[in-house]
Amino acid sequence: MKLNILKECEGAGRIGISGHVRPDGDCVGACLALWQYLIKCFPEAYVRVFLEKPAAIFGELKGFGEIDSEYGEEDPFDVFIVLDSSADRIGGAEKYFRAAKKTINIDHHISNRGSGQVNWVEPQVGSTSELICDLVEEGSMDRELAMALYVGIIHDTGVFQYSNTTPDTLEKAARLISYGFDFPRLVRETFYQKSYVQAQIMGRALMESVRFMEGRCIVSVIDRKTMDFYQVEPKDLDGIVNQLLNIEGTDCAIFMYQTGVLEYKVSLRSNEKVDVSRVAGYFGGGGHMRAAGCTLQGTFHDCVNNLSLQIEKSMGQIEKSAGTTEGKNGQSV
Ligand code: AMP
Ligand code: MN
Ligand code: MN
Repeated sequence: MKLNILKECEGAGRIGISGHVRPDGDCVGACLALWQYLIKCFPEAYVRVFLEKPAAIFGELKGFGEIDSEYGEEDPFDVFIVLDSSADRIGGAEKYFRAAKKTINIDHHISNRGSGQVNWVEPQVGSTSELICDLVEEGSMDRELAMALYVGIIHDTGVFQYSNTTPDTLEKAARLISYGFDFPRLVRETFYQKSYVQAQIMGRALMESVRFMEGRCIVSVIDRKTMDFYQVEPKDLDGIVNQLLNIEGTDCAIFMYQTGVLEYKVSLRSNEKVDVSRVAGYFGGGGHMRAAGCTLQGTFHDCVNNLSLQIEKSMGQIEKSAGTTEGKNGQSV
């Protein structure tokens, strides 16, 4: 089902857009692309994006400077649209969602059951930005919009590396780069480039990582003290978990950083041998089969013990089903 967003927003004087807390490239790209599209199609309307302050690397995308991270008083929105998440993960913007006359939820997380009055959730699609790309009518696409969508797509597909990349993803990307922006620089500067401290803390996380389950799992943790020492924020830790998964023999990578005295934000990545969306879902989080996250309470060791039980369970289920349905590998998004 493709949503007709222009029809859904017809006559709306006030439109709000938001995405998940700690917004990643897909979330920022999708929100800014939709914002650009709606202000173009409804020049009279008040359209606003509410997001936790995204990383400065996205500063080049049109509309970045207009993002509201203050969550002040607002009259009720006629339409409020949540992207790349369900409405319970949008932090300070949730109050606008609750007060809105009409709510729309567009996402690609398998764990999202649809939190709006109107829902468009496609778990088999690699990024929310791809869904937004489908919404934009041909004549309205332009260079700035294409840039935002391209950034969203490369971030959630790992620059077309993950198995959520489809022929359709590449066809969309081909169309987007035809708008003539400097995509190699965008990929380098928003995806691969690290600041010196980001590289240092990644090095430290890799050096202190621990393997278990005969090397099939790897875990690393960064505590509050270390984050303070390097003066880094959670968004500076992006990419560490992917680097852990790159280590030979690893089926499941866990990266944790401390968010409270006995609380950790957990990022999980896997190959086809573990369904981490199930593991994260068990602990109240969610995500995709090969990339998911959750928040856990307890000591580091409690967290790892609890996670490893669920990881083992998922590995067992997948091994069993691979044995019964020969040749069928775990397709993921
Ligand atoms: P992260 O490891 O936080 O980068 O997240 C990996 C994937 O899982 C992303 O698609 C996130 O949007 C998703 N995710 C992370 N945490 C949660 C959560 N608590 N609930 C639902 N999805 C999540
Ligand atoms: Mn996201
Ligand atoms: Mn996404």
